[in-house]
Amino acid sequence: MSCIFCKIIKGEIPSFKLIETKFTYSFLDIQPTAEGHCLIIPKFHGAKLHNIPDEYLADLLPVVKKLTTALDLDTNNTPEGSGYNILQNNGRIAHQVVDHVHFHLIPKKDSETGLGVGWPAEETDFAKLEKLHKKLQEKL
Ligand code: 5GP
Ligand code: ZN
Repeated sequence: MSCIFCKIIKGEIPSFKLIETKFTYSFLDIQPTAEGHCLIIPKFHGAKLHNIPDEYLADLLPVVKKLTTALDLDTNNTPEGSGYNILQNNGRIAHQVVDHVHFHLIPKKDSETGLGVGWPAEETDFAKLEKLHKKLQEKL
């Protein structure tokens, strides 16, 4: 298995480890886009979110939450409060580079650092939304 994140979990490649549980491993991103940028990964090899068993996914978000506290990001939008982004890319076209599911926790303390988001929103089209909603409801 040549997966770099599996090797990090096993300790075969060093990492700046943060929280580890039975299902989850977290560590500092080696090329941070902001100070405190960390990665939270399931201890299960799978390239995309839908490949990961539910028990791993259920364990992971509380770890992210604990890290927001450790990073002093858990203020509730006071004017001076910090923000953060949780990012999880799936597939090359969606900017995924490492093919082991990982969640980025990226502090957003100013407009210069952290994640920049492109958001090409369409005009609201209720007819189109209704059609899609019906189709999805039939599948769910
Ligand atoms: P992606 O674009 O796949 O969502 O993000 C991959 C992330 O993994 C990048 O932010 C990159 O800096 C990080 N990364 C890649 N290799 C390593 C590594 O060996 N150690 C650590 N700590 N982070 C890594
Ligand atoms: Zn892996």
